[in-house]
Amino acid sequence: MTRFADFHKRSISDRDGFWAEQAALIDWHKPFEQVCDYSHPPFAKWFVGGQTNLCHNAVDRHLATRADQNALIFVSTETEQERVYSFRELHAEVQRMAACLLDLGVKKGDRVLVYMPMIPEAAFAMLACTRIGAIHSVVFGGFASGSLASRIEDATPTVVVSADAGSRGGKVVAYKPLLDEALRLSSHKPGKVLMVDRGLSPFQRVADRDVDYAPLREKHLKTEVPCVWVDSTHPSYTLYTSGTTGKPKGVQRDTGGYAVALAASMKHIFQGQAGETYFSASDIGWVVGHSYIIYGPLIAGMATIMYEGLPIRPDAGIWWSLVEKYKVSLMFTAPTAVRVLKKHDAALLTKYDLSSLRTLFLAGEPLDEPTAQWIAQGLGKPVIDNYWQTETGWPILTIANGVEKAPTKFGSPGFAMYGYDVKLLDDATGKELTEPNQKGVLVIEGPLPPGCMQTVWRDDERFINTYWKTIPGRLVYSTFDWGIRDADGYYFILGRTDDVINVAGHRLGTREIEESISSHPAVAEVAVVGVADQLKGQVAMAFVVVKDAGSIPDDAAKLKLEGDIMKTVDGQLGAVARPARVRFVTALPKTRSGKLLRRAIQAVCEQRDPGDLTTIEDPSALQQIRDLL
Ligand code: AMP
Repeated sequence: MTRFADFHKRSISDRDGFWAEQAALIDWHKPFEQVCDYSHPPFAKWFVGGQTNLCHNAVDRHLATRADQNALIFVSTETEQERVYSFRELHAEVQRMAACLLDLGVKKGDRVLVYMPMIPEAAFAMLACTRIGAIHSVVFGGFASGSLASRIEDATPTVVVSADAGSRGGKVVAYKPLLDEALRLSSHKPGKVLMVDRGLSPFQRVADRDVDYAPLREKHLKTEVPCVWVDSTHPSYTLYTSGTTGKPKGVQRDTGGYAVALAASMKHIFQGQAGETYFSASDIGWVVGHSYIIYGPLIAGMATIMYEGLPIRPDAGIWWSLVEKYKVSLMFTAPTAVRVLKKHDAALLTKYDLSSLRTLFLAGEPLDEPTAQWIAQGLGKPVIDNYWQTETGWPILTIANGVEKAPTKFGSPGFAMYGYDVKLLDDATGKELTEPNQKGVLVIEGPLPPGCMQTVWRDDERFINTYWKTIPGRLVYSTFDWGIRDADGYYFILGRTDDVINVAGHRLGTREIEESISSHPAVAEVAVVGVADQLKGQVAMAFVVVKDAGSIPDDAAKLKLEGDIMKTVDGQLGAVARPARVRFVTALPKTRSGKLLRRAIQAVCEQRDPGDLTTIEDPSALQQIRDLL
């Protein structure tokens, strides 16, 4: 591997020259004057002085060459709908949505919160926002009113775009009551709520606030809304993600840097060609959906599939039937989805014509070897793991076959991508680990490359304090992941250093779940830990001390309380955050200074050695957990 090594080296040593070249992959309205302004670390400003527009790069610029080619392919196995939009049609729909937003008073820089299922209108809303310089903030449809309310409060949107309902496994999930409750809970009240009525679940309209999309769209069928040229550093969106504390962070992304980073990744990492089809089976509520359902493929001039439904309905061959039907070249999903498919007939993997498919990309959680082997052999296609975070917006570690073909190693997402100056730090000493096979915290030396987070929305202090630390003479960004690097430069990810858990590729904060469980009147204390799970990678396990020990005298009462607590979490955070089990104990293991020993609980749950317990106050508390399992 020499070509990639040189490519990577240059991206660090001649950072500005390297990224100036990549910047030619997108359209600029006004050329930039400076590639990277890192005069106020850790804040990096990319392509300073330049003006561009994300929606222009994703949609308008393709009109001249591919107006009638597929742009957005919507498939719902929930509602039995399939709709295909060409770039011309997408352009028209995005303008209609943009006109509606303008009509409702949205201005450049305003936030628009998008709480929607996987329907085309959600994509129109995102693109419409970036078209007019508004900042979208998509909240995953699986989140419930508490999660939604905290995001509304932080983003203070002018308008919320939502829909009556989503559907999962054939069951209608009403969104509007959750939204209404969130708006009741939130101290910030958006002026308007734009409602897409799918006819799935009748809903109440709040006078002077709720506006139906269909008639407003009719009014704007012919309204033209030109792209607003914004500074490269203008925020395009915020996306909330969990961390150590209960309050989710609004990851803020710029415009120019993000467009360049995605365009470069489509070329060097994904090797997508204009006119081909990309199928990312993620959700727009997650970063993969932002980068590789919406912006990345469209910027590259590819058609993108937006899929609403399960991977196993009507049967576990549905995805491959779509690959055949739409001649998908590149596919992207999470290991959990593959583990779900693995429980079904492997013959479904070869039932369809997959000749168009070149590569399956997997990301979002650790990829275990049996899962990788099963799908790679079953499809007869290369499988490429890639490791990144909401914060970075595009892969940190993977292989870049577009630069130079490189072998994959099972268990490793790959090596450091261009632009990322990745290091491992010794946790205790903070020193850089330079020898192979040493375990350390994976960090990135600043500046973060284009496309990564600019800051935490309205909280620069939190950005600095959460992510950055100084090692002699240098400022580094922490990924909060443990890793090791082998002699060939391949990294292996060994889990989080903080209280974030990863359930089926969904990132959750155990503190958020604890806060929600604590709100149940019967709960005195709670500890939530992530426990290894064969299917989902990890699941949340809760250990609860009740206020009145007499209130749970028998198993039936325990079961009822467990169900009640789960309902509390469902109602506040959403079913994604529901613990797999709630177990009852009379004390939680803590240090003498009162700190919860989450790692020890986790180790016991996973039947591992809990390590050094010299500071534990009451060893019988841990024994109780051991006995329960
Ligand atoms: P998110 O911000 O939701 O994308 O979650 C990011 C976190 O997921 C990372 O910090 C890792 O802990 C984990 N993660 C993502 N991709 C991978 C991967 N390919 N292998 C191992 N862990 C991953």
